[in-house]
Amino acid sequence: MTNRADVIIIGGGLIGLTQALALASQGISSHVVDRADQQAMLAPGFDGRTSAISSSSMKMFEAIGLGAALAGNGCPIEQIWVSDGLKPGALDFVPSADDGFLGQMFENRFLRRTLYEAALASDLIQLNMPVTIAAKSRDASGVRVTLIDGKELSGDLIIVAEGRQSRTRDEAGIRIANWQYQHNAMVGVIYHEKPHGNVAYEIFYPSGPFAVLPMLDSEEGRHRSAIVWSVHEADAAAYLKMSPRGYAAELETYMGGMLGPVELAAPLSSYKLGFHHAGAITADRLVLIGDSAHGIHPIAGQGLNLGLRDVAALTEVLVEGMRLGLDFGDAQLLDRYSRWRSVDTLLVAMSTDSLNRLFSIPGKTASAIRRLGMGIVQRTRPAKAFFMAEARGESGALPKLLQGVPV
Ligand SMILES: Cc1cc2nc3c(=O)[nH]c(=O)nc-3n(C[C@H](O)[C@H](O)[C@H](O)COP(=O)(O)OP(=O)(O)OC[C@H]3O[C@@H](n4cnc5c(N)ncnc54)[C@H](O)[C@@H]3O)c2cc1C
Repeated sequence: MTNRADVIIIGGGLIGLTQALALASQGISSHVVDRADQQAMLAPGFDGRTSAISSSSMKMFEAIGLGAALAGNGCPIEQIWVSDGLKPGALDFVPSADDGFLGQMFENRFLRRTLYEAALASDLIQLNMPVTIAAKSRDASGVRVTLIDGKELSGDLIIVAEGRQSRTRDEAGIRIANWQYQHNAMVGVIYHEKPHGNVAYEIFYPSGPFAVLPMLDSEEGRHRSAIVWSVHEADAAAYLKMSPRGYAAELETYMGGMLGPVELAAPLSSYKLGFHHAGAITADRLVLIGDSAHGIHPIAGQGLNLGLRDVAALTEVLVEGMRLGLDFGDAQLLDRYSRWRSVDTLLVAMSTDSLNRLFSIPGKTASAIRRLGMGIVQRTRPAKAFFMAEARGESGALPKLLQGVPV
């Protein structure tokens, strides 16, 4: 491959690598540039998170050739249980047998390795990592990225997948709306005595949401779940200093003993939680995807899925452009991507933010109103079907890759 490719993707995280693979599955070539060392990112201590991959995102992974690599490595989510603290009146979402899983839980480290190895094996993807970018330019004739080692890459379009702190987005003059939640997510993996039964628990406390998400049993056959526990930022440092036994005892209290005694399987990590949303997701010969474009509260486990929707929509738009003989940086194509994704991402972002605020209101009256609303949803079949479609990532104008049909 020469130093020219159809597109240049800046950022080789979960979203950037998936974008490269989705485009390659349609015959579109890319350069992927990342400043981080992938070997360090694949190391055991790098990212202890797990991600709930919705069933529509799974269809895309299968459509771009990752089905065999992922099969058997994700833990199916067969039920979602939502409660206001440990009070009675929980909501539970159980799909019918024909509808299949709501999603699957994967370890981020496993996803990263799978995507990286597939990208490495592709003739249409050139990985440039770890490397620093020295210069970038965009004009009517195309885009160019010069690497610190002097290598010059060129293409029709820059796809920005740099995550929250996106420098290319800022340099392009794209402003973001953002705020901090004053909460940190304490993330870890626990062993527990009772099986989880493939249930994902979302328990809302006034101090923040607490999620217990099913994982496959360990190699030794121990039951495991991931926890995402949102705590006030002032308390996060104290929680991180707690002894594993003290922490396990605290978790058991929060879980009301539903999975029996628990034990930490790995050290906890802490992530600052914030919201951001880009004012525009395109500029001349440039598009934003994934966390470069939007970052939401992990309350509903939708951040990565939202980025995967960007990937599917952008792939479909670029394939249409290719069939029409258009340049990949054509303004009409970028405009179509922008119109398609802007509304969906804003709706998901605002509904997640509202959900978080709704459950943060303290007091008995607020709790009673919430539980009344949950009771109505629990008894109303169409309302439950709507929320399950959201969890599966099946709402809105779905790109073909997410429907599992050819582009
Ligand atoms: C606690 C927590 C739990 C979560 N759980 C879920 C979940 O269950 N389900 C879900 O769907 N989502 C979840 N999310 C959200 C999800 O993790 C993110 O949406 C997703 O990781 C974003 O991926 P990305 O590739 O866009 O960005 P990133 O993962 O941030 O990757 C960006 C990449 O770009 C590179 N980069 C950055 N700047 C440059 C530059 N200037 N030059 C070159 N390279 C650069 C970086 O090295 C990195 O590799 C969670 C988030 C948090 C915080």
